[in-house]
Amino acid sequence: MYQDFIDFVRETFDDPEGFIILHDPRFIGNERKYIMDAMDSNFVSSVGEYVGKFEEAVARYTGSQYAVAAVNGTSALHICLLLAGVKRDEEVITQPVSFIATCNAIAYTGAHPVFVDVDRHTMGLSPEKLEAFLKAHARKDADGHCYNAKTGRRFAAVVPMHTFGHPCLIEDIADICQRYNIPLVEDAAESIGSLYKGKHTGLFGKLSALSFNGNKVITTGGGGMILTQDEKLAKLAKHITTTAKIPHRWEYNHDYTAYNYRLTNLAAALGLGQIEQCEFFIEQKRKLTDKYKAFFADKDITFFTEPENCRSNYWLNAVILKDRAERDAFLTFTNDHGVMTRPIWVLNNRLDMYKGCQCGDLTNAEWLEDRVVNIPSTVIIPNYYENIKKGLYR
Ligand SMILES: *Cc1c(COP(=O)(O)O)cnc(C)c1O
Repeated sequence: MYQDFIDFVRETFDDPEGFIILHDPRFIGNERKYIMDAMDSNFVSSVGEYVGKFEEAVARYTGSQYAVAAVNGTSALHICLLLAGVKRDEEVITQPVSFIATCNAIAYTGAHPVFVDVDRHTMGLSPEKLEAFLKAHARKDADGHCYNAKTGRRFAAVVPMHTFGHPCLIEDIADICQRYNIPLVEDAAESIGSLYKGKHTGLFGKLSALSFNGNKVITTGGGGMILTQDEKLAKLAKHITTTAKIPHRWEYNHDYTAYNYRLTNLAAALGLGQIEQCEFFIEQKRKLTDKYKAFFADKDITFFTEPENCRSNYWLNAVILKDRAERDAFLTFTNDHGVMTRPIWVLNNRLDMYKGCQCGDLTNAEWLEDRVVNIPSTVIIPNYYENIKKGLYR
């Protein structure tokens, strides 16, 4: 029944028999050159010129005023939340549809996640549901902050996520956050290169986090980036991701219980080579998406397309099956036949650690959970492995 999909994927990825995975990195630019240069400089670790170069390149690419590197996306998001002012026993509103890192970063601050529904056509936090939830549960106090009437705790941040690279309705969310005086922090881990009305995701919040894990659009092996438009926050982010050391020729003085969340110079060298390719990667990914669109046009399976007024990076292409039984049948057949597919995440409010958290109405999230499956989305570079053997990218 799904054999034509298998045939299509094998032909598209020009791989007649191997296991075709969801998202592989591709290194076709200056990556090897920069890494060798970093090694030859002997600065492989926490000092070296590539960290600054990579930060500048990400800032330039996204249009962000400031970009501060971190060891991974989860730690970047952790720092974003701390700098947005999130404290122990406060509450952070987020979506249940996300990779576990979003909730974990919230939990690291000692705050509690509160789950509000997503929109079906973006898979990201729903402004309508957010507004309804706040109308029902929020109380603005004399101090100007917004509290949960039920628990008495402050709503310290709202954290939407741009699912699979598709921008959510971030302007509307930003507007609600402003009216309720709740800081906005974007989990933009999946959405490098994705634009909402021409503006890069991650530039709408007070702070936002990108991820450069191995399965994302571009990678540093493991890595992340904090974006902000506020110079003071950028300086603080650098300070507390690097052990809060006070500069001095020899003294070890530190003024905060900070973190060793530095990105290494080696990783940054890889990242600089990758970001130079990011636009090309997205062009190629969008060509793949066009092929998928055409393939699914006359099928029973719905192909998920980018929301209006957006340019998505289409990090992971997604399809929507009829119901959970169809979803499971599709997952079984494709994985049995050497094509990797994965369901959308188990809703985070169902996981043991977050079971007790407050939830709004989650109808859309539950609907998506039953139906969404990711399909292979690697950037297609013809003859990639043969070219590596020939030394073409050296
Ligand atoms: C990848 C990802 C992160 C961060 O992941 P790291 O592996 O720590 O870089 C955070 N949130 C979401 C939604 C992600 O997909």
